[in-house]
Amino acid sequence: MPSSTDSVPRRVAADEAGVAEAVGLLAAGGIVVIPTETVYGLAADAANPAAVARVFAAKGRPALNPLIVHVASFGMAERYGQFGELGRHLARRFWPGPLTLVVPRRAGAPLAGAVTAGLPTVALRVPAHPVMQAVVARLGRAVAAPSANVSGRLSPTRAAHVAGLDVPLVLDAGPCAAGLESTILKLGADGALTLLRPGAVPLETLVAEAGRPVAPAGAGVEAPGMLLRHYAPRLPLLLEVTEPEAGMFLIGFGPVAGDLNLSPTGDLAEAAAGLFDALHRAEASGAESIGVAPIPRHGLGLAIHDRLRRGSAAGCV
Ligand code: AMP
Ligand code: MG
Repeated sequence: MPSSTDSVPRRVAADEAGVAEAVGLLAAGGIVVIPTETVYGLAADAANPAAVARVFAAKGRPALNPLIVHVASFGMAERYGQFGELGRHLARRFWPGPLTLVVPRRAGAPLAGAVTAGLPTVALRVPAHPVMQAVVARLGRAVAAPSANVSGRLSPTRAAHVAGLDVPLVLDAGPCAAGLESTILKLGADGALTLLRPGAVPLETLVAEAGRPVAPAGAGVEAPGMLLRHYAPRLPLLLEVTEPEAGMFLIGFGPVAGDLNLSPTGDLAEAAAGLFDALHRAEASGAESIGVAPIPRHGLGLAIHDRLRRGSAAGCV
């Protein structure tokens, strides 16, 4: 039966049979939703131009927004990108895990052009989630995978969040442990580091491990996908709220109880893991607006604020 964008995709357990079916679909040029430790990803064989085109079409994603390439090991990453001393060090320290490294693309790397949006660089990551690892290892090729949501909308951190995509299969492995997209770090030829997107690896941890400063991204050019209005719920989103207005669903944190609380003890990792689920729940609650309690801006709070700011940007409220 052909699926339509209104249909709910078929969800199966991410067990042996589910992984085998997903790998079969990917090998045949199809697209599949796969869990990772950050968010659920919409995966395609990164070497297959038609498959990659399906990802862009399913999400309604602008063609200038390149995709992250998932590989099984550092050795595999070296087939696609060029790593210097520092890149090797950071990969050894953070992979597998939620750090994406943007490095010069290796000439002749088997990647569809749309994956890198024609850029001379490639964004690479070794995911820590056993299901995504198993899929990439069995396919034996890199997997391009953005978040499995319609472009600009909330990222899915549970299989049930995946909606509105024309995709035949979702592998369900429960909630994502990190719940925030990967941190994206660009390695310049001169050893300069640029943070293209804050994410599940805190900036402070990166700086400490790199032993050098990390610059914030410049005005829009470096990270083409970092459109301001992104990760947006369907309702107006207000930040730094301690007292809810009428009709508001309040997402609490620490002492601000709210309709649900991201972390009563004020734990930022717990808050990050539950952030998108809280926004999905708020959206489905029938409320007229969403408020979010004050959340610190250090550590994972930086990425949490980045997502909230993009969700509340002008045009949404
Ligand atoms: P998403 O797939 O939504 O997690 O977004 C991936 C993001 O990675 C994109 O929006 C870009 O900002 C960034 N990215 C991917 N590839 C590159 C690249 N070659 N150069 C710079 N940024 C990249
Ligand atoms: Mg995304």
